[in-house]
Amino acid sequence: MKSLQYAARNGAARTVVQAGAARFGEGFVIVAGPCSVESEDRLLAIARAVKDAGADALRGGAFKPRTSPYAFQGLGLAGLRMLEKAREETGLPVITEVLDPRDVSWISEYADVLQIGARNMQNFSLLKEAGKQKKPILLKRGLQATLEEWLNSAEYILSAGNPNVILCERGIRTFETYTRNTLDLSAVPAIRSLSHLPILVDPTHGTGRVELVEPMSLAAAAAGADGLMIEVHDNPGEALSDKSQALLPDQFRSLVEKVRRVRACLDEFNDKENPGRSGHFPQESEKKGDPR
Ligand code: PEP
Ligand code: MN
Repeated sequence: MKSLQYAARNGAARTVVQAGAARFGEGFVIVAGPCSVESEDRLLAIARAVKDAGADALRGGAFKPRTSPYAFQGLGLAGLRMLEKAREETGLPVITEVLDPRDVSWISEYADVLQIGARNMQNFSLLKEAGKQKKPILLKRGLQATLEEWLNSAEYILSAGNPNVILCERGIRTFETYTRNTLDLSAVPAIRSLSHLPILVDPTHGTGRVELVEPMSLAAAAAGADGLMIEVHDNPGEALSDKSQALLPDQFRSLVEKVRRVRACLDEFNDKENPGRSGHFPQESEKKGDPR
């Protein structure tokens, strides 16, 4: 991938992107929240529940990219104000999606991290605008994007002057219809060797099925992901978007417990292989005795 000047690993140390107390690329960061911000009471209830279960950041959409123009489009500014309130109350940094280049600068005053969704991964005007400010950008993989196309999208943001990019694998479109998408977990170790940027996994959109979210989260942790992004709702049946894939707070709590144990177990293995480098998740090329 010769065209990458900023996103390529090239032997560089892995990047840590900070948002509030969350450090993406160091340890394991769990982002959770509803697909859409729906009301203040509901958002606060979900925010408290995910914080209590061990989440490190809250995510909720105020501007939603919906397939149908008649579906719920988000609460806009009112939703951003609710996210601010949830941050004030829980201390969690907040992540929200930006759809339009004209909205980047004012939305960045409300959010700690701006999400660029799968459908906008190659919206080059949006990427350039996201690069002109310094708030971290969570860049989801496009529905049909190769790793090279995805990293080139990150390159747009980095080369425009914003070094704070977090990648998020959210499944790609294949011939399979049982799952909403096909979660490409091989992207995790591949991206870790190609790039220094942190990489999260979103098993919610990656599978679209509640019962698959926990097993895929455990697998993502085992594959070396830097964290997860998971949709949680206190009454999924009533959710205004993505109702068939959100976890209940109790399901999320149990997932967090198991995922943290898988991650601790891997840290233990890695620590044995690389004593004194606790929390570090080495690539093949970094392992002891490898001359590269
Ligand atoms: C979302 O995160 O709610 C979302 C719409 O995701 P994606 O862009 O991955 O489809
Ligand atoms: Mn969603």
